[in-house]
Amino acid sequence: MRLLLGKPLAEKLYEASRARSDSLRDRGVVPRLAAVSVGVEPAANTYVQRLVSRGRRLGMTVDDVALPGDATERTVTMTLERLGREPAVHGVLLLTPLPGKLDEAHLVDHLARDKDVEGMSPYSAGLLAEGRPRFVPSTAEAIVALLKFYDVPLEGARATIVGRSTVVGRPVALLLLQEHATVTIAHTKTADVAAATRGAEIVVVAVGRAGFLRGEMISKGATIVDAGINVAPRGIVGDVDVASVSSVAGALTPVPGGVGAVTTEILLRNVITAAEQARPE
Ligand code: NAP
Repeated sequence: MRLLLGKPLAEKLYEASRARSDSLRDRGVVPRLAAVSVGVEPAANTYVQRLVSRGRRLGMTVDDVALPGDATERTVTMTLERLGREPAVHGVLLLTPLPGKLDEAHLVDHLARDKDVEGMSPYSAGLLAEGRPRFVPSTAEAIVALLKFYDVPLEGARATIVGRSTVVGRPVALLLLQEHATVTIAHTKTADVAAATRGAEIVVVAVGRAGFLRGEMISKGATIVDAGINVAPRGIVGDVDVASVSSVAGALTPVPGGVGAVTTEILLRNVITAAEQARPE
């Protein structure tokens, strides 16, 4: 079984972004991302730290805009709108999950369209659904970018996505449809998930359950993309039961070291794109 490692693609994306960031700097523009988090969410903070360090490597600024856990919807809304008006900020990211009663679906309405680098707003989602994506959720784009990087045939391929969240499952399905794959989406109400995954040459699993996808659920030689991130006693693991899948699959993205390695570079690249397209101050 072939391991589809994220690092070679992440490095390629980094090199391309570095060149674009350098030419922006020559024009006096430093790409800037504001990462808004609410409450103490250790997982989210680790992600922000990673964005800060990867961003620095690219000559970018990443602001950690940390709001208290009891921040009201109005406070978060006003913060997003203020950052939307701030000319020096090119990208705004709202970290999820949000605590308490905050309604993510409502808050993302307040992200400025041109700065919605994680493709969270209904405007970005609508463009993707129409088949003319602008900014797409970075995990979803990372998944399709990995498949393309490793020359996995997409046109006409049967692809099953397990999971239908707005961050992973749904946007991956739409991106693969755009690549002319024949797409099936499975979820908790799907009568026979294994039948859907067994009938596919490509399986993307994004459910958030360690060991979910087992060898007997896939067909021989299938390409498996594992988007899961689960905390297990032995560390971070994906949604794939690697022991049983390894003897059946043709290729697999590892966790860690697969999709996650690419996601950050895609998001930071989107900030550079937003900075390039921003009107001069
Ligand atoms: P989510 O919002 O909880 O969605 C999970 C999806 O899986 C839902 O659509 C759910 O179906 C489906 N599902 C759950 N159990 C299932 C089962 N037994 N059978 C069939 N479908 C099932 O999670 P998410 O945000 O999409 O994240 C999914 C995983 O990806 C998590 O492990 C998360 O940590 C990881 N993730 C990774 C990255 C990255 O950069 N690699 C980024 C984001 C998320 P229903 O809709 O019917 O409930």
